[in-house]
Amino acid sequence: MASEEKRQKKYYVTTFYHFFNWNTDRTIEDIADSLEAWCRIRTIRGLIITSTEGFNGTVASASKETINEFKDHLHKISKTTEQISFKDSFCDASNPFRRTKVKVREEIVTIGNTQINPSKNLPKNVKHLSPKMWHDFIKNNPDSQIVDVRNDYEIELGTFKGAKNWKMDEFTEFPKLTKDSTFKKDEPVLMFCTGGIRCEKASIEMHSQGFKEVYQLDGGILNYLAEYPDGYFNGECFVFDHRVAVDKDLKPSKNYSLCIHCGQPSTKESFDCIQCGDESYGVCHKCWDQDTRYHTCSKNCAHHFSLGHITKNKHSDSKRIKYG
Ligand SMILES: [Zn+2]
Ligand SMILES: [Zn+2]
Repeated sequence: MASEEKRQKKYYVTTFYHFFNWNTDRTIEDIADSLEAWCRIRTIRGLIITSTEGFNGTVASASKETINEFKDHLHKISKTTEQISFKDSFCDASNPFRRTKVKVREEIVTIGNTQINPSKNLPKNVKHLSPKMWHDFIKNNPDSQIVDVRNDYEIELGTFKGAKNWKMDEFTEFPKLTKDSTFKKDEPVLMFCTGGIRCEKASIEMHSQGFKEVYQLDGGILNYLAEYPDGYFNGECFVFDHRVAVDKDLKPSKNYSLCIHCGQPSTKESFDCIQCGDESYGVCHKCWDQDTRYHTCSKNCAHHFSLGHITKNKHSDSKRIKYG
């Protein structure tokens, strides 16, 4: 019975951002503090970034009503006349967040230039494509210039067919990578990211560098998968919480976990810890190939292994086996 209940437990997750002008005398710090308190009282967990340009976040709750209440509350405190768009997904069994945090930053998504503000200076020839328009565009123009605006480690888990990976380590590199790219300025550029927020700034940057026609996928991959689970997106979509990624049906990944040693995504291939001998998984290929001390199940085992402490399993060879 207890396990039956546990299996049926479901968490409602919503991802959102909004660029707008806070029409208030309150400071951002004050708004952030009271929003955090409001969420804590209702056991809403997650991470929200606020700044003078708006907010950006993902939150989760075991109650759908609470998530709806949260959405109304955001409309209320932001006093925005526009509709804030929320991308919903789900998580079974456990909350994808351990904490509730509302932070104040200079930008709600950091490109490193506060002059780029989508609510103030969105150029006319930057357009949002609905998932259907995006899908049809790719279908009819398979050789389009498509750039994946996410980081390299996210793209490794999945991307759109035909999309270019500019091997970004972080979003602040985007302006320079645009300058260095071989994309043609007089041909259309299509861009996408997880939920759309990075494209809001990336598109303005590309436009300012002379790209004449820039299209961004409205609501990002999460919005596309909700309508086209079997469309042109291959693989899984990395998300910034304990789910690591979501599959084409927006369900938590069964294939990835976060690397024990570096925190980047890792496939679930099992191995016996070279230090303690326990069967484990969750070491990424980069760590695995880099040093034998990462053939360990934890930071603690890696530490003891590097000190040369006597171990159970030290001289056996630890091989990776595909998990599950
Ligand atoms: Zn690693
Ligand atoms: Zn171990």
